[in-house]
Amino acid sequence: MTQSKISDIINKQQIFFNSGITKDIPFRIQQLKVLKEAITKNEYEILKAVNSEMKKPLVEAYISEVGLLFNEIDYAIRNLKSWVKPKRVRTPIVHFLASSYIYSEPFGVVLIIGPWNYPFQLIISPLIGAIAAGNCSIMKPSETTSSSSKEISNIIKENFEGDYISVIEGGVETSKILLSMKFDYIFFTGNSRVGKIVMEAASKNLTPVTLELGGKCPCIVDRDVNIEYTAKRIVWGKFFNAGQTCVAPDYLLVDKIIEKELLDGIKKYVLEFYGDEPSRSPDYARIINKKQFNRLSGLLKEGEIIVGGNVNANNLYIAPTVIDNISLNDKIMEDEILGPILPVIECEDLTDAISIVNERPKPLALYFFSKDKRKQERVLRETSSGGVCINDTIVHLSTISLPFGGVGNSGMGNYHGKASFDTFSHKKSILRKSFLFDINVRYPPYEGKLKLLKRFF
Ligand code: NAD
Repeated sequence: MTQSKISDIINKQQIFFNSGITKDIPFRIQQLKVLKEAITKNEYEILKAVNSEMKKPLVEAYISEVGLLFNEIDYAIRNLKSWVKPKRVRTPIVHFLASSYIYSEPFGVVLIIGPWNYPFQLIISPLIGAIAAGNCSIMKPSETTSSSSKEISNIIKENFEGDYISVIEGGVETSKILLSMKFDYIFFTGNSRVGKIVMEAASKNLTPVTLELGGKCPCIVDRDVNIEYTAKRIVWGKFFNAGQTCVAPDYLLVDKIIEKELLDGIKKYVLEFYGDEPSRSPDYARIINKKQFNRLSGLLKEGEIIVGGNVNANNLYIAPTVIDNISLNDKIMEDEILGPILPVIECEDLTDAISIVNERPKPLALYFFSKDKRKQERVLRETSSGGVCINDTIVHLSTISLPFGGVGNSGMGNYHGKASFDTFSHKKSILRKSFLFDINVRYPPYEGKLKLLKRFF
């Protein structure tokens, strides 16, 4: 789409926003209902589109692309009236006969840019927050998943006025044009390299941003665990969507005392979940495209493959793969893997594991398996990450009362549940004063007033 057409859409949205309609609470609730109805009506097409792109198994697609959205929409509809209420806060005595409030007001016209790995959910989930908070939205889905992008565009066009919500399809060039324009908020999901480009572009207009980025999510396994559940939960979280999940466990840091037992458990569950020929399993996804396939295949050269390792370029298949004897300097430990390959690093103890984590950029998620509560507390205290899930993988992001987002290299800001509403709302501070009194102590001339003023502070 050309710059002038995009500019036209933004202008129309600005006019629509200025009309005040989007601030109306019944309007917001109605639009959330329209969105839910649209997803319900098009569920089959959505699941078909994501299946055509990476053979995402139906159950995984349902959970991750639409199920989570239904929860988010219902939660927003149920709670919106209480979220929008001005929040009364304490007023200091110096402002005698005044009251203080925090009002949540929409930013205006927001831009939402999405990635390819959960193409539907990751563009619609922020939209729920944008609608709930009373904004107009322009969305740019990932060009990598063009079927999903088309589907999103059709659904939005059929159900919403373009002056309120619009989808602009396109690739990097379109994204660059969008980023050169003035928005009131930018919500970006993608990799950290592009996150920097987005933030730089936003800085030109002082536009606030949320950056939902990626990185390497460590999974630490202590000696004091239930091996069966640990192995099962790691295999599920790692190979869900063939490892193409921003919060997938990226690498394992295992206490050497239980390493063999854990790896046996992991082998067992890969076999149990996907059979002895995972390429024939209907429950195992494919790699998104040739570029990612080639990148991932190149990571199979180091260490000792103990599970999987088979690849087929014709159908972009990479088997669920576990690689042992990986060293910290290997290529696979450089960047986020975002695929079905799990490197394993043996650790002497928890101190060793924590120092490996802390030598790297702050991750989006950190996983720790241990029964020991003191060790759990230690990991929470001594590491920093967007979120932590103890004794499981991935599932923390489906807890609607937990804000989801990164820190440092894995991003800034967060969303989900009320956090989505807060992210898309400016928190306006209001002090309301009475006309009943006016204490003279703050007005000049100041002579003799300092002593009294000191008492106030
Ligand atoms: P990406 O950053 O390459 O692309 C995301 C979006 O940015 C796309 O819509 C793309 O068109 C646009 N884009 C790409 N290059 C651009 C440029 N130079 N200028 C302007 N726009 C540009 O990310 P991706 O490959 O689609 O997604 C994978 C990454 O996203 C991984 O790092 C993953 O961890 C991360 N991710 C994070 C989350 C999260 O919630 N934190 C969720 C999913 C994915």
